[in-house]
Amino acid sequence: MNRAHDCIVCGAGIVGATTTLALARAGRTVAVLDSGRPPEHDGSGAHDLRVSTLNLASQRVLQSLGAWQGIVERRAYPFDAMSVWDAGGAGRIRFEARTLDEAQLGFVVENRVVQAALHECLSREPNVTLLYTTRPQRLRIDSVAACELDDGETLHAQLLIGADGSRSWVREAAGIAADATDYGQRAIVCNVRTERPHESTAWQRFLPSGPLAFLPLAPHTCAIVWSAELALAEVLAALPERDFTERLTRAFESRLGTLELLSDRAGFPLFRQHARCYVQPRVALVGDAAHTIHPLAGQGVNLGILDAAALVESLPPHREDAGQLRGLRRYERWRRAENRIVQLAMDGFHQMFASGDYPVRWLRNAGLTVVDSVTPAKRFLARRAMGVTGDLPRLARAA
Ligand SMILES: Cc1cc2nc3c(=O)[nH]c(=O)nc-3n(C[C@H](O)[C@H](O)[C@H](O)COP(=O)(O)OP(=O)(O)OC[C@H]3O[C@@H](n4cnc5c(N)ncnc54)[C@H](O)[C@@H]3O)c2cc1C
Repeated sequence: MNRAHDCIVCGAGIVGATTTLALARAGRTVAVLDSGRPPEHDGSGAHDLRVSTLNLASQRVLQSLGAWQGIVERRAYPFDAMSVWDAGGAGRIRFEARTLDEAQLGFVVENRVVQAALHECLSREPNVTLLYTTRPQRLRIDSVAACELDDGETLHAQLLIGADGSRSWVREAAGIAADATDYGQRAIVCNVRTERPHESTAWQRFLPSGPLAFLPLAPHTCAIVWSAELALAEVLAALPERDFTERLTRAFESRLGTLELLSDRAGFPLFRQHARCYVQPRVALVGDAAHTIHPLAGQGVNLGILDAAALVESLPPHREDAGQLRGLRRYERWRRAENRIVQLAMDGFHQMFASGDYPVRWLRNAGLTVVDSVTPAKRFLARRAMGVTGDLPRLARAA
């Protein structure tokens, strides 16, 4: 069977689902395919291990697309402060929403909650064909993009969008190279109950072995992202539960009292990756398919959501060919530069905090203290992390 759409989106994770919904709202017909099914979300069950801090820009995009309500109705936790400090000195910095005239700095949300809300919206879109448990097998590009699927069907479209994560099939099939650097770290994630209240604050302590984050998920409940060198990560993942929570409590200087493990532990390899280009004739990459960054500032999915909004805004009106290279190049110029800046900033933080050399330690602690006391600099950094500065797509701008 052959089917024709304006666009095919490969990958229905948070970024692929956002892209699909934005395309459909712009009047495009879209087929979205994923090798799996969107995860179920049971609001009365335990919190999932995969969570993201969504910033204000992502909230605005999801609000403009009508998916935000479905997220907050399911489960999302606002945080109104962020506290960062260095284990190797006295430097610290604290951001507070009220000093920025905002109600909160962002929300901590389980990835499956965002996906469930987006898929609920997609299932109501007449322009969208959902193809779950399907994989692409072959790609042919000529006057259209022809994508042969593993069930024998071939989809045709003016534009194929790769939203299929860091090991993107679309990127490979289109022959787009990517530069990758291994950070030599794994992120151990788990959820804990905290003895003391977390004060709706996202906490991050920079240890010599990597950053340790406590993200508020519910009262007295935090999601942990503990990035550590490979050997230490292996030890942390294998420690008996009690030893692990004791070690975690110590690593966090007992700031939130004693901790109780509420979940399994899972590990994710950390690497930086950037596709050498984001577009080719009739092909575009978004989200982790285009770029992967260190999770230390919780920005990966936020960048991907902005890619989705920028790509759809860069395309010509819906009656014209979505695969025209002019629109695709505009998207690439716009987002590749923005993502590169964030990637370099994350690398800079990673290297600066990993260094045990006295001059670097002194400099970073002095730097944290200075920035903490210089209001305009602090405001600039906070607004950048909230995604409300820079060249924003229309969907991410204030109403
Ligand atoms: C430990 C950790 C913590 C993080 N914390 C944050 C945070 O707080 N905030 C933040 O913004 N970011 C965070 N990130 C980054 C964030 O998780 C990623 O940037 C984000 O998930 C990327 O979304 P995506 O939709 O581009 O890709 P993915 O989530 O990888 O989705 C890709 C989709 O494509 C599908 N797929 C893959 N291959 C195929 C194929 N061949 N055929 C069909 N379908 C396919 C998959 O099934 C999947 O559904 C974190 C990352 C890590 C590792």
